[in-house]
Amino acid sequence: MMAPHGGAGGRPCGAAVRDRHARAPRCTARIIRDATLPAQPSDSTAREEPMDWIDATLPLNAALAAWPGDDPFAYRETLTLRAGDDSNCASIALGVHCGTHLDAPYHYIDGGTTVDRIDPELLIGPCLVIDLRDAGPRIARADLAGKVPPGTRRLLVKTRNGAFLRDRAFHEDYTAFSQEAAEWLAARGVRLLGIDYFSIAPFDDPRPVHLAILGAGGAALEGVDLAGAAPGAYEIICLPLRIEGSGGAPARVLLRRAAAAAS
Ligand SMILES: [Zn+2]
Repeated sequence: MMAPHGGAGGRPCGAAVRDRHARAPRCTARIIRDATLPAQPSDSTAREEPMDWIDATLPLNAALAAWPGDDPFAYRETLTLRAGDDSNCASIALGVHCGTHLDAPYHYIDGGTTVDRIDPELLIGPCLVIDLRDAGPRIARADLAGKVPPGTRRLLVKTRNGAFLRDRAFHEDYTAFSQEAAEWLAARGVRLLGIDYFSIAPFDDPRPVHLAILGAGGAALEGVDLAGAAPGAYEIICLPLRIEGSGGAPARVLLRRAAAAAS
C-alpha cells in the first residue's frame, strides 16, 4: 500500500528534487514567513510572554506506534546540506490515523463529512479535560457522572493510556469508551471527543462508539497527549491537515488553560 521508499538518504531521486528546487529556490519558506510572521523580530530576546500553550501533539517519528495494519510514519531525507545540497528537505509517508489525529464522520459513514470539510468551530474553542485514570478498560457512563457539565462541547479524557501512549509497541488493551458512555456524551452535546490513545473505541469493537460521536456530526481526537494537562477548563486549537476526501488526518493540538486564555 505504501509507496516504496528510496534507499538510505533518498539519493536516487535527489537529482530530480534538486532540479525542482533550482527552479523555485526557497519559495515555500518565504511564503510561510510572509503569511504568518509579518513582524517577526530578528532578536529572539524580544519575545513578550513565555509560552502558555501545552502542545498535546505526539511527535511524529519512527518510534511512534502504528495501528496494526496501518502504514507507520516514515521520514526520508531527499536533500541534505551535509551531502552538498543547497537545503535540507524530506518526504513523509504515514497512515491518516497515525499519531495525534482527527477522525471525521466519513471514517465510519459513507457520504459523511470528510476531514477537509469539518467546521473549524468544532475544533477551536472551550474544551474540558477530565481525569479518568481510575476508569477502564471500558469507560462507563457511571465514570463520567458529575464530571461533564451540561454545555460541554469539546471533551478530552486523560486515562491510564498515558503510561504507554509513547510506546513503540501497540497496546490492544487500551482504555476506551463503552458504547453507552459514548452515546450518553453525544446526547449531552459533546461533539469533539478525545482520548490519549489511538482510538476512542475498543480495539475489538470500534464501530458503535465511533458512530455515536461521528453519527452526531462530531469528530474524534485520538492519540492526544494529555500528560502535561491537569484536569480543568482549556481553550483548544486542533488543526488537522486538510486532506481532501479523507476520513482522518494528523493534527496539531494545542491547549491553553482557560484562565490564561481569558486574560
Ligand atoms: Zn482515527
